[in-house]
Amino acid sequence: MSYQNELYQQVILDHNKNPRNFREIEGSAHHCLGHNPLCGDKIAVFLDLDDVGVIQDISFNGSGCAISKASASLMTSFLKGKSVDEARVIFTQFHKMILGELDPEKDENLLGKLKIFVGVRDFPSRTKCATIAWHTLKCALDKEGEVVTD
Ligand code: ZN
Repeated sequence: MSYQNELYQQVILDHNKNPRNFREIEGSAHHCLGHNPLCGDKIAVFLDLDDVGVIQDISFNGSGCAISKASASLMTSFLKGKSVDEARVIFTQFHKMILGELDPEKDENLLGKLKIFVGVRDFPSRTKCATIAWHTLKCALDKEGEVVTD
């Protein structure tokens, strides 16, 4: 197994076992439920924004496979303290990386430790698992409700 792969496995296992920010934010004005029917992942994302659009608190709960939970866990810890505008840019870059349209080692990006998910692009059946939390985040930013990947 390559170093990159081994690191990926370790991060997934760790975040799946000890998910960060795994709770509901009571009274959150921005939340959404995401559903990935391909795998059965159901992830809810909660956001608390201040009046200048900075993410003061972000959390998730729900059930899903190890990849979907680890992705949600990393996403929430990565985005706390960032602005909504930054979060949208990071969403786009993460999505492009998963689709193989952005090379995190060559193309300019803000992905930081989220680069660990680059390996998912080699497993097309798991891409929805890696992105469900992100689609749900976008839904929570844009409106309340539900999002289903297709
Ligand atoms: Zn999944």
